[in-house]
Amino acid sequence: MSSIENLSQLFMKFPGIGTRQAKRFVYFLLSQDPHYVDALASEISVLKKNIAQCTGCFRFYPRKGAGTLCNVCVDDADSSTLMVVEKDTDFDSVRRSGSYAGRYFILGGTIPVLEKDPASKIRIRELLERIEGSAADGLTEIILAMSVNPEGDFTRDYVLKALTPLAGQLGITITTLGRGLSTGTELEYSDGDTLRHALKNRA
Ligand SMILES: [Zn+2]
Repeated sequence: MSSIENLSQLFMKFPGIGTRQAKRFVYFLLSQDPHYVDALASEISVLKKNIAQCTGCFRFYPRKGAGTLCNVCVDDADSSTLMVVEKDTDFDSVRRSGSYAGRYFILGGTIPVLEKDPASKIRIRELLERIEGSAADGLTEIILAMSVNPEGDFTRDYVLKALTPLAGQLGITITTLGRGLSTGTELEYSDGDTLRHALKNRA
């Protein structure tokens, strides 16, 4: 196989990328300045070395020293609330909005409606462990902040059901974002005002 074929196959592993788009990426790279292609290749090659996954919230963060926790998990963030979001880009949006000062947990995806093995799609086991470990830290509220679409709804219901027994036992309240987020909204595309409103109106 040629380099064109090989690279296309690698691009096809990207989310939402099919054969035709993968090929388009390869031809785009061939038409670019060598410096651009070199910079891209070198950033990719150091990505996993420079970025670590936090063992507390599971988000990706710039690796510093030997610790395994990110700055948000170790700093003086309010440990009484834990916000559960779908993915790293959702974390970025909420963080940027400045409307929330507590801790986070990245679920790692959503559960497709009618999925036979929901637990395999998200970090539900890790979330339960995190909650158990956070109870002594003064955790009193878990905020479920999923997108407002069928898959987000399905995921929220599943997570809510899975957490309810443990939360009840530990005296922790579970809330969901208010309807400030309109139907079809992905959290990562929400602006700061919308997020603030949704957080204020959580129930
Ligand atoms: Zn963290």
